[in-house]
Amino acid sequence: MLKENVEILKGVGDKLKADLESMGIYTIADLLFYFPYRYNFIELKPLKELIHEDQVTIVGKVIHSPTVTHYGRKKSRLVFHVQIDQMSVKAVMFNRTFAKKHLQPGVTVTLTGKWDAHRLQITVANYQLGEPKQNQNIESIYSVRGNISNFRLEKLLKQALEKYEQYVEEIIPVSYLKAYKLPFRKEAIRIMHFPKNKTELHHARRRFTYEELLLFQLKIQALKTKQQEAEQGNVQKYDTEQVKQFISKLPFELTEDQKKSLTDILRDLKSTYQMNRLLQGDVGSGKTAVATIALYASVTANHQGAFMVPTEILAEQHFHSLQQMFANEVNVALLTSSVKGKQRTEILKKLANNEIQIVIGTHSLIQEEVQFYNLGLIVIDEQHRFGVEQRRTLRKKGLHPDVLFMTATPIPRTLAITAFGDMDVSVIKQLPAGRKEVNTYWVKDNLFERVLQFIQKNISRGEQAYIVAPLIEESDAFEYQNAVDLYNQLLAYYPQEIEVGLLHGRLSIEEKEDIMKKFLNNQIHILVSTTVIEVGVDVPNATTMVIYDAERFGLSQLHQLRGRVGRGDKQSYCILIADPKGEVGKERMRIMTETNDGFRLSEADLELRGPGDFFGKKQSGIPDFKVADLVHDYRALEVAREDAEKMLRERLLWNNPAYRLLKEYIENEIALKGQLD
Ligand code: ADP
Ligand code: MG
Repeated sequence: MLKENVEILKGVGDKLKADLESMGIYTIADLLFYFPYRYNFIELKPLKELIHEDQVTIVGKVIHSPTVTHYGRKKSRLVFHVQIDQMSVKAVMFNRTFAKKHLQPGVTVTLTGKWDAHRLQITVANYQLGEPKQNQNIESIYSVRGNISNFRLEKLLKQALEKYEQYVEEIIPVSYLKAYKLPFRKEAIRIMHFPKNKTELHHARRRFTYEELLLFQLKIQALKTKQQEAEQGNVQKYDTEQVKQFISKLPFELTEDQKKSLTDILRDLKSTYQMNRLLQGDVGSGKTAVATIALYASVTANHQGAFMVPTEILAEQHFHSLQQMFANEVNVALLTSSVKGKQRTEILKKLANNEIQIVIGTHSLIQEEVQFYNLGLIVIDEQHRFGVEQRRTLRKKGLHPDVLFMTATPIPRTLAITAFGDMDVSVIKQLPAGRKEVNTYWVKDNLFERVLQFIQKNISRGEQAYIVAPLIEESDAFEYQNAVDLYNQLLAYYPQEIEVGLLHGRLSIEEKEDIMKKFLNNQIHILVSTTVIEVGVDVPNATTMVIYDAERFGLSQLHQLRGRVGRGDKQSYCILIADPKGEVGKERMRIMTETNDGFRLSEADLELRGPGDFFGKKQSGIPDFKVADLVHDYRALEVAREDAEKMLRERLLWNNPAYRLLKEYIENEIALKGQLD
């Protein structure tokens, strides 16, 4: 019944039907689940308690008949005064001339709109003759299109509820509703549209939050199980002794978190299913070290390894450090788009016949022409920069390697278990011993010379510095600092013996490599750069990071940049030069100076920017929930996750009739997914 087309409702003709369809409403069920995006809580308060610029509701008597002024082509302004608490309040309404005849002196009227406390004036959004109706103190606001008004939609909803509410089936087993004190589905739908009070609305929203999160969790967990069953056969019998020896040769002791993550990964390598693991940890927490050991383990199992990174600079850096770590034991190659001609052909040949065991590169690693002999493990650094498509390409080649995704953008737990719900997660929280926190300061542009002096003092102690600007060159479009200007400024400011280098994405790969090498060898003391140095670059002697126009960057990005310093044992500094205009911008700078904890920062980022922006709009894989809110409902999310786990593990879905509808939902979703793949 709920699958009936909305046209069976009275009053829905072709035009209305088209408008409804443009809102994604085709069936009765779609309509019933088209929830308000916002509610207005109408609360009558004494005038003096009303807050300036708030949306308020007031009730009063019209003092004298409204005056109407016309302006522009079709615009009008209607002004009248109402008496409230012995005071006269001015009411302004736009483009509603027709209201004049209703608003005659002596009439009581309820007005909702924006309050101007200084002028005792309300800009009316809605008016209603008479006192506010009882039970009508919550107004549902829908997102509407075309000729559909809020009012019209409510009328349709009333009709639909009356006729079809009875067909709404409960899909969550009653035991859960009882345990969490959640209303039944039927009841909750009505409340979502026509709440009588805040309490019942709160519970209805809790119900749908749980429902959405539970369905989502059931879906991704069921898919994951299915995938694991389907993709078997990649057992990597690595050599435990060799791996142990390799670890003992490292110049440091692994941290507990590194050991734990490594154990997770090694267990996955050995098992029959395809690893799909996210290794997350703050910058410098030692993820790359763990990944390197995993790659080595894979090689001892006679498999090849691939290490994909987002930039060429990073690829080169990893290439050099891996070459060092593996000495002559393992053949490592670098394959980026700038490796060309004979050199490239040679590498490709050696990858195909297993002469090269580990290859490091950017996107080029997964291009058609690259054929592996026996790819066992692929490590992907900064995974959210790689598209879903690229990951799929590997599978299409018939390769089912274990996959380890690494991210230095600490992802808030809420997002990790939703966006990456189909992945296993290992977390490195603790930093290697002896690391000092980076001291962070926020200054305005007028202190730039002081900053330059500060850098000079640190350089005189043998240390190095980065200065980052948002742009490469001057731009008409933005008023931000650019690297080229800064570089010239610094050349002019500092004495000859201070070497300044310039690095940005438009340099050739040889030029970039040359500059990075010089910086690494302390032949360049100050590196002026764009954000190309954002990810992974490791120069422990650099102790100062200056970020120009810091308000231009996201918190996580700033944190990444800051992570370029504080990598050695010397005290390091991060100086943010910023003059943000809004409160949010100032707050962001303040948070940066207050914490070095990447998880806290990314949570703050999420709060300030919302989940869509967090990963970039596309391919975020984050579902669009109607009611659930990832920032605030993380507890519900964890509960839902555990419940889903239990339902699947104990096969309740299949063995218990109370779970019948949940089972049907999941089976449908999985069938749908199968068709899409
Ligand atoms: P990430 O990839 O998480 O940014 P890296 O693996 O690049 O971190 O490690 C950052 C730096 O710390 C590197 O110079 C690395 O050699 C060093 N390092 C890694 N693990 C440890 C450890 N357990 N103790 C000391 N130093 C470590
Ligand atoms: Mg790294």
